[in-house]
Order: sequence, then structure tokens, then C-alpha cells
Amino acid sequence: MLASDVIIIGAGPAGTATALHLLKADPALAGNILLLDKAVHPREKICAGGLIPHTLDCLKELDIPLTVPHVRVDRAFIRVPPGREVLCQDGGMCSIVRRDAFDFSLVQTARARGAEIREGEKVLELVREVSGVRVVTNKDTYHTRVVVGADGSGSRVRRQLVGDASSAVGKAIMCDVPVKETTWEGFLARRYDFNFLPVAQGLKGYLWEFPCLIRGIPHVNVGIYSLGNTRLTNADLHYLLACEVASLSPVPSPQPLTPSPKFRAFPIYGYAPGRPLATPHVVLVGDAAGAEPLMGEGISFALEYGKFAAQAILPALRAKQFDFLQYTEGLSRSRLGKKLARLHLFARLFYGSTSRLWFALAARSRRLQSTGLKWYNGVEGWHQRSGWEIVRAVLQPDMERIRG
Ligand SMILES: Cc1cc2nc3c(=O)[nH]c(=O)nc-3n(C[C@H](O)[C@H](O)[C@H](O)COP(=O)(O)OP(=O)(O)OC[C@H]3O[C@@H](n4cnc5c(N)ncnc54)[C@H](O)[C@@H]3O)c2cc1C
Repeated sequence: MLASDVIIIGAGPAGTATALHLLKADPALAGNILLLDKAVHPREKICAGGLIPHTLDCLKELDIPLTVPHVRVDRAFIRVPPGREVLCQDGGMCSIVRRDAFDFSLVQTARARGAEIREGEKVLELVREVSGVRVVTNKDTYHTRVVVGADGSGSRVRRQLVGDASSAVGKAIMCDVPVKETTWEGFLARRYDFNFLPVAQGLKGYLWEFPCLIRGIPHVNVGIYSLGNTRLTNADLHYLLACEVASLSPVPSPQPLTPSPKFRAFPIYGYAPGRPLATPHVVLVGDAAGAEPLMGEGISFALEYGKFAAQAILPALRAKQFDFLQYTEGLSRSRLGKKLARLHLFARLFYGSTSRLWFALAARSRRLQSTGLKWYNGVEGWHQRSGWEIVRAVLQPDMERIRG
């Protein structure tokens, strides 16, 4: 049986970030951190690849420049119920990558900095033992003192060692269409689009159009995100997406086109406050722990989870104390946990029975849009401010007007 101090299962953004933060804090760990991934990078990942500005800050903290091809957007066109349209041009917006190239670059960096990465190695079973965890793969058996579950939304680590909440599983479906086959102007306008109109039909999510480059060719990535607890069926989601794609066609049609482009779906496991994220010898990060439920954005969170986990693992290794009793509570008190909890609340408001009210408020106030976007995107330090500071910033000019 092979042994390693830390075994990270999954070499996506959460797993590689955990390894990189561990190695940054303690370079002596090189050779003692093992990442296992069932895929071989560069691997396909079903994802729109939007990196909010805060993601780039997380990368900078790890001295990783964004070198892979990407498309920058600096405006967002948003449709909200019952039929309002909003154009936002501040808040920092987004850089859009393809995940095969992006994740591969993270894997190469982690390897270059001392992490051992075994690819094409699928974890089949995890067995808790007195002094750690036995990890059984299709190739070998390992013993480790710390398992990091970075194995994505369907996490085996979560299911076998921590506990699962199947109600938290939503999904996203997407396809890529060459821009030249559409009338979509977003690519040239450096814009991405969000369509929340189907919330009125029961969707707990939205449709999107993101510009992207596939082998250098401009494409539009079209997709639909849906929380798990919706009354819409899988067929409904496919229908809504097909209609969205058809609306971009040179001959716009309210009905799906035939043949429609290839749709690819993937589950998204949403974060919910209070759910356990660790047990002795085991911590969860990234989608395995939970993506933010409002928009399903998970890459910046994956990088942040990685940092948080590293900060919990380092003292555990030094003290040889692996209960991780404070991990879940500590995360919920951290800036990362607070942001996730707020987005969990916003998802309930915007996709719940009073959604119309919240969309009307958001569509009406430019200041709310601008402040909300800056907070979400993590620009100008807005994500570090307290809820009161944000509310004050949104309301203050009105209060001053009333007082004056
Ligand atoms: C359609 C869609 C669009 C999205 N768009 C965006 C977006 O624009 N911006 C954004 O920020 N987020 C987006 N997300 C969410 C984002 O993709 C995830 O939050 C992000 O990938 C989470 O990273 P991770 O490292 O936790 O998990 P993953 O990226 O899923 O990585 C998990 C890794 O674990 C490996 N693995 C899984 N099981 C095993 C096993 N048993 N043994 C070994 N290895 C295993 C996998 O091969 C994989 O490499 C989108 C998601 C979907 C589905």
C-alpha cells in the first residue's frame, strides 16, 4: 500500500488550488501531496468558463497569470421578469476561458511546483481507518492522513465519507454555436447576456449567452442553469434552451430548430449553510462542498475553498490532529462562507414566490445593480465589506437627498 500525507481527489480548480496553497505555505510538502484524477488533462469540462475578476485575484495570489486564450467582456445585457431589459457596464465583468486549457494550465503549474499528479486514476472506494483513510483506485491502494474531496459536484468523497444532500443537486445544460451561424452581436460588443424571463415559468435559474473562442474561432456558448428543486422537467429545460438557441438564428424562431446543436449537461451541487463539509481526516472543497446557488458560479469559489482547506490542513499536519472539527463552522464564518450564505439567501429570494418583487427592485436601481455586481465580482474590495456597508452604499444618496 502506498502512503501520502495528503491525497487530493480531483485535479480541477479546487484540487489544484488546495495543492498550490499547501505548497506555497510549506514548500517542504513537495513530494508529499498526491492528486488523483480519473481524467487525463487537458480534459473536457462542461462549463461556460466565465472567470469573474475575483478569480483573477485568486490566481494572482498564487502567482498564476492568465495565459490561456480568453475573451474579455465588459458589459452585461440582462432580461428580467416581467420583461425589463438592463445593460450593465461596470462591475469589472468577466474573462471567458475554455476549461480544458484553463484546468490543464493549473495542473501543469501544480506539478511544476512539487505536487505529484496521477491522471487516468479513478477513485473507486474510500475506507475510514483509525489513522486515516484507505483510498482504492482502479490502479492502486493508498493510505493517507488527509483526504481532500475535490472531486466535483457528484463527489464520491462526500457521498462515502461526509454525507450527501441530493436535494441540492441542480444542473446546467449548454452548447456551443459558431457566431457566424447566428445573428448574436455579443461577441463583437464584448458582452454577455443573461435571461431570467423563464423564472416566471418556474425556472429557478436563467439562460445565458457567453462569447468564447474554440480553436481560435468565435463561438457563442448558450446554456441554462437550474436549481434542483424546480417543477420543470429535464425536457422543459431542454426545450427552453432549444428556444433560446433558435432565437439567435438568422431566421429567428420561437420554436426549437432542427437539427439543434449538441447539448451537454452536468450537475451542480449547491452550497447550503450548516451542511457538514468535513469529518475526521476528510475535508471537502469546490463543487464537492457546494457551488454558489444563485448563478452556479464555482471557479472563484473553488480557488477560495482550496486556500481555506490548505489553511486548515497545515496546522492539522503539524499537530497530527485530524478531526477537522472547526472546518465547517470556520468556513461559514469566513468571508468565503458569508458570501456563499448570502448567495444562498438571494437564490431563495430571486427564485422563490416573491421573485417578481426582487427582480423589479434590481431592475429599477442603477446603484443596486452597480454595487451588487461589484460585490459579486469582487472588485474594488466590495466583497470584503459587511452587509451593512453595502446597504448603506446603496441607500446613502437617497438618505442624503431626504435629509437635504
Ligand atoms: C454548464 C456549466 C456552466 C458553468 N459555467 C461556469 C462559469 O461560467 N463560471 C464559473 O465560475 N463556474 C461555472 N460552472 C461551475 C464550475 O464548472 C464548477 O464550479 C467548477 O468546475 C468547480 O471546480 P472543482 O475543482 O470543484 O470541480 P471540477 O472542475 O468538476 O473538477 C473535479 C475533478 O475531479 C475529478 N474526479 C471526479 N470524480 C473522481 C474520482 N472518482 N476519481 C478521481 N477523480 C475524480 C474529475 O475528473 C475532475 O477533474 C459551470 C458549471 C456547468 C455545469
